[in-house]
Amino acid sequence: MTTDENLLKGVSGQWSKDALRTMQEMLAEGAKVAITAHRSPDGDAVGSALGLYHLLAGQGIVASVVLPDRFAAFLDWMPGTETICFHSEQPAAAEEIVRSADVLFCLDFNAPDRAGDLADHIVASSARRVMIDHHREPDSFVELMVSDPSCGSTCELICDWAIASGNWSNASVDAAKCLYTGIVTDTGSFRFPSVSAHTHSVIAALLNLGLNHSEVHEATFDDQSLSRVQLHGFALSERLKIWNDAGIGVISLGLEDLDRFDYESGDTEGLVNRILGIRGIQMAIFMRESERGKVKMSLRSKGSLDVQALASAHFDGGGHTNAAGGVLLGLTMSEARDKVDEVLGQWLGA
Ligand code: 5GP
Ligand code: MN
Repeated sequence: MTTDENLLKGVSGQWSKDALRTMQEMLAEGAKVAITAHRSPDGDAVGSALGLYHLLAGQGIVASVVLPDRFAAFLDWMPGTETICFHSEQPAAAEEIVRSADVLFCLDFNAPDRAGDLADHIVASSARRVMIDHHREPDSFVELMVSDPSCGSTCELICDWAIASGNWSNASVDAAKCLYTGIVTDTGSFRFPSVSAHTHSVIAALLNLGLNHSEVHEATFDDQSLSRVQLHGFALSERLKIWNDAGIGVISLGLEDLDRFDYESGDTEGLVNRILGIRGIQMAIFMRESERGKVKMSLRSKGSLDVQALASAHFDGGGHTNAAGGVLLGLTMSEARDKVDEVLGQWLGA
């Protein structure tokens, strides 16, 4: 299909004529292209990296995808995962790809440290760096910055590039599957306020490419292990603390809890949204002990309640108004619970 007027109308203003021209110039014949995304890559990080990989392949450009570490098993089905080089598993190969690239796409992150151990290599690389991202307060470590915090996902911004640059008709079904996955995961299946009419226009255009969206949903959401589903049940019934008057719900899981349910990476994905689904809850917090002395935080909110501010002030993190994350270091699980109680107490009193 060709791009129609409606589709072009809502494309992010970040894709200015200058930005499009710079992209085109960077992707000139023979350029060595690498694509990376943030550590603990989520659906939008993997979807945008592989989506761009497939879009470029449609234009005859073979790019290399390098990720700091592996993603959760529920994304394993995505086409192209077998081509990814993981820095955590093949450090020398990953570093060489970043070092020798002419163009390096930094997707779904706004500051080098979000790429974990790959950060220094990204900054040291002589490649022309492009950021395509939707997190607030981006760092200026790139030549071309396409940063649109009003957009619900990086995948939508990648679609916008393909649309605005006239490359949509070259997009394959594999590209569509990856890009759809990023949009659906980062928008909480189209429920967050960042979803726009344009988001749905992009989805329509993806369907018109031949995408079977039901297959994506089944592969991503309806293929869970029994132990994962039981861990969610346990967390909701035994580890949820509700602050009724404040409309806050907090789930915390220690290493022992996770071991009991044979935890695998990604098994707690979505739990924080279950808290937010409880009547009266305005803010949801999920805490997971990832190793002794390290508790990973996930925060979600409704409406204008700003969890990004809370995450950056108290949990060394960041993200978006309604979805943020961070970490508590050097605390036991019980100390981390006390710390969150204290932070929330202060925050409610303020
Ligand atoms: P999640 O709760 O799904 O891990 O993350 C929600 C949002 O917060 C994502 O947009 C993610 O990029 C951001 N985020 C998660 N963890 C961190 C962190 O440690 N630091 C920062 N700056 N942002 C984070
Ligand atoms: Mn994202």
